[in-house]
Amino acid sequence: MEHSILVINCGSSSIKFSLTDPASGEHRLTGLAENLGSSSAALSWKGVATGDHPLSQGDHQGALQAMVTLLEELHLSCTGIGHRVVHGGEHFSGACPVNDDSIEALKDHIHLAPLHNPVNLLGIEAARAAFPDVEQVMVFDTSFHQSMPKQAYLYALPYELYKEHGIRKYGFHGTSHRYVSEQAAIRLNKTLKETALVTAHLGNGCSATAVLGGKSVDTTMGLTPLEGLVMGTRSGDVDPSLHQYLGTRLNMTQQEISDLLNKQSGLLGLSGQTNDMRELLQLEDGGDPQAHVAVEVFCYRLAKAVAALVVGLGRLDALVFTGGIGENSIPVRARTITALSFLGLELDPELNQTHGLAEQGRITRTISPCALVIPTDEELVIARDTARVI
Ligand code: ADP
Repeated sequence: MEHSILVINCGSSSIKFSLTDPASGEHRLTGLAENLGSSSAALSWKGVATGDHPLSQGDHQGALQAMVTLLEELHLSCTGIGHRVVHGGEHFSGACPVNDDSIEALKDHIHLAPLHNPVNLLGIEAARAAFPDVEQVMVFDTSFHQSMPKQAYLYALPYELYKEHGIRKYGFHGTSHRYVSEQAAIRLNKTLKETALVTAHLGNGCSATAVLGGKSVDTTMGLTPLEGLVMGTRSGDVDPSLHQYLGTRLNMTQQEISDLLNKQSGLLGLSGQTNDMRELLQLEDGGDPQAHVAVEVFCYRLAKAVAALVVGLGRLDALVFTGGIGENSIPVRARTITALSFLGLELDPELNQTHGLAEQGRITRTISPCALVIPTDEELVIARDTARVI
C-alpha cells in the first residue's frame, strides 16, 4: 500500500508538520502553525503549494482542524499520522500505535518531561479529534537510546532512585542520530553493523551519541535534554552543586534556576548577545571577544564529549556533523576536528568549505577515521516508523 504520512511535531505554541512519502522520502508539504494561543496565530505551508493565513481559532485544536481543511483543499490525503514524542522513558523502546493504553502509559511519563510530554499529548488528542479515521503512531526521541548499556545510562546515585523513580540517562534526538548513522554507513560503503560512529546533532539543542553497529551505546543528554553539550540557551553539564550554591548565595528559587540553566545559558549566556551560531560567528569575525569565548567553549566542550564517547566504541570510523550548526557552520567543524587530531582526524579545509558536498559528506583528508557532514531528516524517520507500525 502507498503511504503518505502526516508528521506532527507539537510544541507549546507551535506545530510543525510535514506530509511525507516514506518510500521516496519526498516531503510533499511542510508547514508551521505558530503563535498558538495568541491573536497572531497563523498557519503557513510550502511544497506542492505555498501559502499562509491567520488562524481564527488559534489553539492546537484549531490548528489541526485548519490542516484538515488545507489537505482537503489541496486534494492531499494522509494514510497515517506520526507524532514526535520527546520522552518515552523505559516503557517505549520503539514506535507505538496511539490508543487508549499507550496514551495512559504516556501520561505516566509526564513527570520525566514536564515541559515537553504534555504538549505532545495535547497534539495527539487534537489530531485524534481532527482526523478520527486515521491511524496514529508515537515516535520517541528517547527510544533509539534504549540500547545503551547500564554503565552508560546509570548515574552514580543510590540505586533505588533508578529502580523506584526511573532516574537515569535516557538521551534524546534519537530519530536524528539514527537517521544520520544509517546514512553514514551508506557513505562509508559499510553495513550498519560494521560501523563505529559518533554523531553530533547540533541545532538549538545539541547532543552527541556513540553509535556502535547501528545501536546507541552512549549519549550526552541525560534524564532531561539539559545535560551534556553547550546549546543555544541551555548550559549542558554544570557542577550538580550549582543548584545549592545559587539557592543559598543568590536566593534563587528552583524555577529561577531552571530558567537560568534552560533559557539564559549556553551560547546566549556566554556571549550575552545571542543564541544563534550564525550571528555569533559574524560577531566573532568583527572582533567581538564575548562571541569568541562562546564559540570557543562550544567547540572545546563538543570535542571533549566526542573523545569521551569514543570510549564506548573502542574505535572510530566517522564523526558525523548534523543539525543547523553541524550542517552549516564551517568554523565550528574546523575547530572541533582540529581539537580531535589525536584521534587521527585531519581536516580538509577545502572540503569543509563545501560542507562535504564533493565527497559524499567527507570533510577530512583522512578516510578512516573521517568526519562527515550529513543533513538530518527527522520527519522522514518518523514517517517511516509510522508506516511500518500501521
Ligand atoms: P532546531 O534545533 O531548532 O531545529 P536548527 O537545527 O535549525 O535548530 O539549528 C539552528 C542553529 O543552526 C542556529 O544556531 C543557527 O545559527 C545555526 N545555523 C544555521 N545556518 C547556519 C550557518 N550558515 N552558519 C552557522 N550556523 C548556522
